[in-house]
Amino acid sequence: MSHTHLAESDPEIAALIRAEERRQHRALRLIPSENYAPAEVMEACGSVLNNKYSEGYAGRRYYEGQQNIDAIEELAIARLKSLFGADHANVQPYSGSPANLAVYFAFCDAGDPVMGMGLPSGGHLTHGWKVSITGKYFQPVQYGVRREDHLIDFDEVARLAREHKPKVLFCGATAYPRVIDFAKFAEIAREVGAILVADIAHISGLIAGGAHPSPVGLAEVVTSTTHKTFRGPRGGMILCDKAHKKAIDRAVFPGLQGGPHNGTTAGIAVAAKLAAGEDFKRYAHQIVANSRALAERLRHHGFDLVTGGSDNHLILIDLSSKGVPGKVASQALDKAGIVTNYNSVPFDTRKPFDPSGVRIGTPAVTSRGMGPSEMAKLGDWMAEVIGHLDDETVLARVAGEVKALCDHFPAPGVPVS
Ligand SMILES: *Cc1c(COP(=O)(O)O)cnc(C)c1O
Repeated sequence: MSHTHLAESDPEIAALIRAEERRQHRALRLIPSENYAPAEVMEACGSVLNNKYSEGYAGRRYYEGQQNIDAIEELAIARLKSLFGADHANVQPYSGSPANLAVYFAFCDAGDPVMGMGLPSGGHLTHGWKVSITGKYFQPVQYGVRREDHLIDFDEVARLAREHKPKVLFCGATAYPRVIDFAKFAEIAREVGAILVADIAHISGLIAGGAHPSPVGLAEVVTSTTHKTFRGPRGGMILCDKAHKKAIDRAVFPGLQGGPHNGTTAGIAVAAKLAAGEDFKRYAHQIVANSRALAERLRHHGFDLVTGGSDNHLILIDLSSKGVPGKVASQALDKAGIVTNYNSVPFDTRKPFDPSGVRIGTPAVTSRGMGPSEMAKLGDWMAEVIGHLDDETVLARVAGEVKALCDHFPAPGVPVS
């Protein structure tokens, strides 16, 4: 995007944005929650829609002048309903965390039992982790994964649900490399009278593209971010059954938020249209194929992977057996142009800020058009860097090779200067 006005009035910020464009171009971005939003999404977000206030919902606003905003929000809602086959969609949550908060607010009172997957097992902060408002204002019950295979422990889920009778049961994760069995969760939720909430923040793009089973029809409420595999603007959405429409809408506004971010709403509409196309289906399946290929290559180099591999977009590498802390590996990889994040692994013996794992994923590299042969190269580079952590010559050489590969795969929405 050209920022001539910005360059003139605020050269400092303009220069930093330019530098970030270069960084996003020349690095292999493997953080699984990140992606490249296409240029049309960016254009929809950065427009005069920024200037409009529109508290309320289409046809029931508290401000006049909604002729265009109502139409935009209705398009976004209609496209999401059709894409996911849901009864209702709310596109106003400011992001994934506020979307989840709205769900708690819709169905729970302070102090009520709520249930979700613990952070150390791959759950999100907002699923009741103790430092989150969701762990402080409710009575959180946390389930996890099995010690032997790191898969969700459904015996534990059922046992805890029967014992604590949570109002809401969250499923979905932020660091889980396998398919989520929504039907099993639905059975448990039904038995104990909990509302099942599927948080598909990471995988909504895979679901839209048919590369992961959908929770719609099994979970009464589905929440998501719109900027991860879905590849839209930074935002949130809630899909739900007809029966919960009123409660959800009321919880988002006026319960939790004021005016919606209308540029974001337009960006969500654009992303939903793109997600309904054939290219997006190919992209979603390619993410999974790439993740499998990369996992395979990493295993070939002797890396331990949590659950042994991946069938979504994400891989969690356990570096304990290599004797390298996740942070040290991540920092060396970053110097080599490979951007990852350090992450706890299940039953980690190290501290959360200095954990044993590295979390990677294939959405962003797949958006650049990379395939299995690039994933193999990437696996080789990762092994080389982690085998030569302090060798600046190796790190610099790999960074150069990474840059050369990136030059062949221009990133959507990122201008190359
Ligand atoms: C990313 C994520 C969220 C939170 O989204 P933000 O937009 O960062 O607030 C919620 N749930 C899950 C499972 C996530 O991965």
